[in-house]
Amino acid sequence: MFDVIRRYLEHSGYCVEFVKNFTDVDDKIIKRANEQGVSCDQITGKFIQAYHDDMGRLGVRPASIEPKATEHMAEIVQLTETLIAKGLAYQVNGDVYFEVPKYSDYGRLSKRRLDDRQAGARVDVDERKRDPMDFALWKSAKPGEPAWPSPWGQGRPGWHIECSAMSMKHLGETFDIHGGGMDLIFPHHENEIAQSCGATGKEFARYWIHNGFVQINKEKMSKSLGNFFTIREIFEKSEWPEEVTGEILRYFLLSIHYHGPLDFSDQALKEAKQALDGFYDLFNRLSEAGQGSTDTNGDLQLAIGIAKGTFNRGMDDDFNTPVALAAFQQLRGEINTLIRKGISTEVRKEAREEFRSLGKVFGLFQLDRWQFNLNVGREAGFSSDLEVQKMVDERTAAKKAKDFKRADAIRQALTAQGIIIEDRPDGTSRWKR
Ligand SMILES: [Zn+2]
Repeated sequence: MFDVIRRYLEHSGYCVEFVKNFTDVDDKIIKRANEQGVSCDQITGKFIQAYHDDMGRLGVRPASIEPKATEHMAEIVQLTETLIAKGLAYQVNGDVYFEVPKYSDYGRLSKRRLDDRQAGARVDVDERKRDPMDFALWKSAKPGEPAWPSPWGQGRPGWHIECSAMSMKHLGETFDIHGGGMDLIFPHHENEIAQSCGATGKEFARYWIHNGFVQINKEKMSKSLGNFFTIREIFEKSEWPEEVTGEILRYFLLSIHYHGPLDFSDQALKEAKQALDGFYDLFNRLSEAGQGSTDTNGDLQLAIGIAKGTFNRGMDDDFNTPVALAAFQQLRGEINTLIRKGISTEVRKEAREEFRSLGKVFGLFQLDRWQFNLNVGREAGFSSDLEVQKMVDERTAAKKAKDFKRADAIRQALTAQGIIIEDRPDGTSRWKR
């Protein structure tokens, strides 16, 4: 989603500085590293690489800057010192806490009042805290944990302060958009605001964009419910002809508004694939030569103008990607009608270019028909259109030479890939997937 927001802002003429940070030290990482007898860096390095691999497969462009918490200890310590100096934080035996009741705007983002929360909050038995809502900015080192020097002794930062320190370093004290999952609104983003605004006295992020959860059969995807799987598993488990490529998954993800729950199902992926198949069929037709009168050019321009208008209106309305996708669908229908009427090679080329340039905003429609098929095939080890054609030609030659054993073997190999061959009376063959 954030990749598309960035692309759309750039498409609209903005220069986008996109920062995506990694929390590369926390309780879970330390626990896993100790269990496996490796360093935290080995754990985080492995998962950051896996993340980049998966995002690459989805066509997500790398951010302008991808900072890591462990590389910002000086900024984190400095921000914590500022908060202590301002009377918003206090130190107890090497730990530093943010004193929530001292920050009067607390709860503004999540729209919770301090009193509501305290009434409902579990009783916090930590006697070092002045208020149960106080959260750690700095944690003193325990044995077997990675630690950094600070004015309060060896220790490591709390989770929330890392994000404030990194975003303020790379984007300034006030910046435009802060993103994240809806589950992060409270307490994580609320705490980021308290720390950042508390330290600077300025606005932190001008806009917050929170995306919805992935759901499986209307239930939230979670490890405890056992309905949890990864992007990688989707790619690896899919099988021809229901294969999933990055572009198919991307199309599916954009077919739902970012705010709502994302209902994942095999059926939804299948529909995304069918939709993309339809587009690539059209692009294939647009790559063929054609003839038509000059007024079809006017019809095309009109259809493109309407589609662009719908696309922009959708995206300008809180990044409504389903509306924008519908604009592509509508344009596809209009152009198919024009093709039936007859349009020239020139106009076909132009129509294809429009799809390519607007599709770029969504990271879609950049391939040719055979490349799309090749991508779909490659993920499960199937042949490309060109390779299939070669095999079909070879079979025709084998039949001509009366080498029926070889001709049969080739047919079997193609059938195994789901390819149907039709022999025509003149000795040539047609094929389809
Ligand atoms: Zn964060």
